Amino acid sequence: MLFITDNEFERVVSRARNRDIAREYYRRDYVVNVSITIDNRGYYHISGKVMINGNIYLPRVLVNPNSKIVSTDCNCIYADEYTACGHIGALILKVQELSPNTFPYRYAVDLEKRAQEEKKSAMRERLLWEQQMAEFRRMEREKETNALTDYIKNQLVNQFTPVSSKPVHLKLLRADGWNFNITFKVGRERDYIVKRVFLTLYHKCKIMNIMLMERLYLLFIILIF
Ligand SMILES: [Zn+2]
Repeated sequence: MLFITDNEFERVVSRARNRDIAREYYRRDYVVNVSITIDNRGYYHISGKVMINGNIYLPRVLVNPNSKIVSTDCNCIYADEYTACGHIGALILKVQELSPNTFPYRYAVDLEKRAQEEKKSAMRERLLWEQQMAEFRRMEREKETNALTDYIKNQLVNQFTPVSSKPVHLKLLRADGWNFNITFKVGRERDYIVKRVFLTLYHKCKIMNIMLMERLYLLFIILIF
């Protein structure tokens, strides 16, 4: 009976880092092939195929009739006389999981099926990502639109801000004779002196005819704008 213990795994894969790697390869299901034959002395010849990103590693393990590992071998550079590599470790873990009891024994992952599943899962992930991106872009657009709307609203509000309805004080300080160089005091909160507003002949005539402050005020407004 082939029964490889955890102690055997730890004894053979003596370097802790290689054991971590082995567990990771096993967890990721990188062991795609296992083949076990038994010879006439009762020794188990285990050979595996570990596929990692398209690279193929071929670990081998020889186990005696008492399920003790007597030798290991791999085509990688990580196995030496002190420790087995992660590929050998992953193979041992896979054999523990499969616990075969009839020999010769064969296990093989349907690589085509796995490739299809991986493709499907990649497509699902891509679709999900695209949906998230579309949602993100939609939110960004909404933010921009809101900002633009607010901006236009503010512009309109500012444009239509009413002018103060408080009347403007206007006081004629001086009008120099017939030349009509006139000086005003004008303002809402405080009065500013506006000196020497020059009037044309036309305005002079108007003022001479009317001579009312009210009209002069209007005239002043027309002049300064
Ligand atoms: Zn190896």
